Amino acid sequence: MPRIVQKYGGTSVGDVERIKKVAERIKAARDEGHQIVVVLSARAGVTNELIARAKGLCADPSDRELDQLLAIGEQESIALMAMALHGIGVPAISYTGAQAGIFTDRAHTKAKLKMVNPKPILKDLKEDRVVIVAGFQGIDEEGQITTLGRGGSDLTAVALAAAIKADICEIYTDVDGVYTADPRVVKNARKLPEISYDEMLELASSGSKVMQSRSVEFAKKYGVVFEVRSSFNHNPGTIVKEEVEYMEQVVVRGVAVDKDQAKIIVSNIPDKPGSAARVFRCLADANVVVDMIVQNVGRHGVANLTFTVPQADTARAVKTLEPVLAGNGGGEVAVHGKIAKLSVVGVGMKTHSGVAATLFQALAGAGINIDLISTSEIKISVVVALDRADEAARVAHDAFGLDKV
Ligand code: ADP
Ligand code: ASP
Ligand code: MG
Repeated sequence: MPRIVQKYGGTSVGDVERIKKVAERIKAARDEGHQIVVVLSARAGVTNELIARAKGLCADPSDRELDQLLAIGEQESIALMAMALHGIGVPAISYTGAQAGIFTDRAHTKAKLKMVNPKPILKDLKEDRVVIVAGFQGIDEEGQITTLGRGGSDLTAVALAAAIKADICEIYTDVDGVYTADPRVVKNARKLPEISYDEMLELASSGSKVMQSRSVEFAKKYGVVFEVRSSFNHNPGTIVKEEVEYMEQVVVRGVAVDKDQAKIIVSNIPDKPGSAARVFRCLADANVVVDMIVQNVGRHGVANLTFTVPQADTARAVKTLEPVLAGNGGGEVAVHGKIAKLSVVGVGMKTHSGVAATLFQALAGAGINIDLISTSEIKISVVVALDRADEAARVAHDAFGLDKV
């Protein structure tokens, strides 16, 4: 019997009416003869509300307690969905991450998967029940509840699909699939019928929140083919898989904007070997992920370093850096929060020249200043002012003719 994992995001289960609609959808797939595992997110907005409530009580809440709290959002969704299915005569059982056998390491709020034990789920499937699993959460070896990072229900779905050897993993969301850019920002963005893991991964890690980047990484590693589609209609979605036909012919596949970055400038540090190493060592030790880095040419014995970090990590970065600089020849730290990173992505870039020039020219034509630049084999990213980011996305999208093809 074909086996499907279906994941429904926050807006898909946003209220009781939506939960009923999704239950009907699950019933229809079951009536077609599929075994079904459903992964659910918290209702849209719930995770953010819970975080806000935590921060209202304590400026820097403990990661363990945050996980205890955040896990309830998904738990509400799964129990309600099981009841909605029972209400229309479908046998179903809901499981928390722990009950579903999802084991992680101990890194609260960003735990990594260690093992998925498919036995409990397989037993229910065999006994003809729909299994509904809380996304985004797991359990560590001490029995503590952990969460998998924002957007982590995508990872739960992909990991379960691998563990139970599902025939397909369907990611249901509030857009029809993966587009050439965020369709809410770039009105003429086009839905892609398919996209490679590598391109999806670059888009996701560059700010396209349609898929959590770690889930795409996992899918690539374990060869899980998945489809991103809408829970609001029956349109075909976007298939994400290893190889996509004619891949090399398309130079740029999509555009992404990340508004959650901040720029840090470390100035007047001694211009001698070991200075940069010290700065990035202490950031790494504090678990701060650094993205784009620029070092200027040193003058008068001092140098400046500029780099980007996630907004949420800026306070920790500054707190870590200041004493290290003070104890090693001096230097100042400044934070600029009002920036965004614009990226263009495409595997075809490997074999085509002029992509950077086209992007820079298009931005210049719109009077948008480029702050930092970084490139990889299949991606070019630039930092621009936050208030020009959406416009920059539209300009880049047009410059590469992404509305056509
Ligand atoms: P869910 O709650 O279902 O997980 P998310 O809000 O995490 O949904 O992701 C869906 C959103 O991702 C869409 O509403 C859309 O605005 C945004 N998005 C950003 N980039 C893209 C893109 N390239 N293609 C499709 N959607 C995108
Ligand atoms: N509810 C979690 C979040 O908002 C996980 C998810 O929706 O995937 O990040
Ligand atoms: Mg999501």
